[in-house]
Amino acid sequence: MNTQKIAFFDAKPYDHIWMDELKEAFGFNIKYFESRLNHDTVKLAQGHDAVVAFVNDIIDATVIEQLYNEGIRVLALRCAGFNHVDFKAAYGKIHILHVPAYSPYAVAEHAAALLLSLNRKIHRAYNRTRDFNFSINGLMGFDLRGKTVGIIGTGKIGRVFIDICRGFGMHVIAHDPYPIKDSDIRYVSLDELIKKSDVISLHCPLTPDTHHIISAAALKKVKKGAIIINTSRGALIDSLALIEAIKNGQLGGAGLDVYEEESDVFYEDLSASVIQDDVLARLVTLPNVLITSHQAFLTQEALENIAQTTLQNLRQFFDGAPLPNEICYQCQKFGNCDRTHQERCF
Ligand code: NAD
Repeated sequence: MNTQKIAFFDAKPYDHIWMDELKEAFGFNIKYFESRLNHDTVKLAQGHDAVVAFVNDIIDATVIEQLYNEGIRVLALRCAGFNHVDFKAAYGKIHILHVPAYSPYAVAEHAAALLLSLNRKIHRAYNRTRDFNFSINGLMGFDLRGKTVGIIGTGKIGRVFIDICRGFGMHVIAHDPYPIKDSDIRYVSLDELIKKSDVISLHCPLTPDTHHIISAAALKKVKKGAIIINTSRGALIDSLALIEAIKNGQLGGAGLDVYEEESDVFYEDLSASVIQDDVLARLVTLPNVLITSHQAFLTQEALENIAQTTLQNLRQFFDGAPLPNEICYQCQKFGNCDRTHQERCF
């Protein structure tokens, strides 16, 4: 087996653990770059056979063209989401692979953690008791049992979150343009879900259809005091409208693992910097907004599965094998491509 060289962008210490454990077995050398992949750093890929990228890397037409000119013919995303890739530019040039599933439990359990913390004000209680302030004024939550949770997107993660919510005794309603056939999930229109839910949790991908699915108009219709949880993609929610809905008391709280302008800030230690993003700065000041930095995937099991599938995807590419985890412009946009005939998208 030939050993190929991988340029691994946006590398963090936790990325090395499983990649280093598995790389030899799959026949790869990995060069880790802390920098994100973007117009300035793309030249680091020179001399490598493949690129591994993550959620906030820039994979636009310019970067794709430069990678292609460097001889790169495959880019493996070590994540499920791919809304940041210009598939039209990549089509016919660079095969784009992703990790369709690594642990829906990791993300769904993080959504539950955000919901419980936000509802019972654990984040505020923690700060108080560290300061020997044992007052519980202002920390009242509500029982989840008997409340209605609205799930937007009943794919892998949404379904695990439904099971968790049922464990709490919640009534589940859901919205998905592709409902699961013969399931016991009660599907309703988006409008009904927004009006009836005490908790709304987003588990759909970011697409032109779902961009700002939680808009100013939607936020005017939510039940007063409802909580929104977003572990999917930031731009599903209009952040300015979210701030307004929190300020005027319509919304009871928001648990956010993702944020629409996160790519400039998440995963970086900016504690000594002056934050330039006023919307994020305002969100952070709100006591009933709880933000985590796109960490819902971060469990041992998920990292192992991500490393395993990413390296397997690349090995299949270099061995000329079928690429079940490839995505292309045709299959993403029109639902089909040549993969059914030739086992690769192009
Ligand atoms: P999935 O593909 O299994 O399910 C997505 C579901 O959304 C599908 O059932 C689809 O029909 C549905 N959907 C599509 N358009 C919709 C719309 N307009 N309204 C409602 N539903 C719609 O995906 P998954 O594995 O469950 O992941 C869901 C999302 O979670 C991903 O798209 C990704 O953005 C996000 N994610 C976040 C993290 C994290 O660390 N925060 C990690 C993994 C995935």
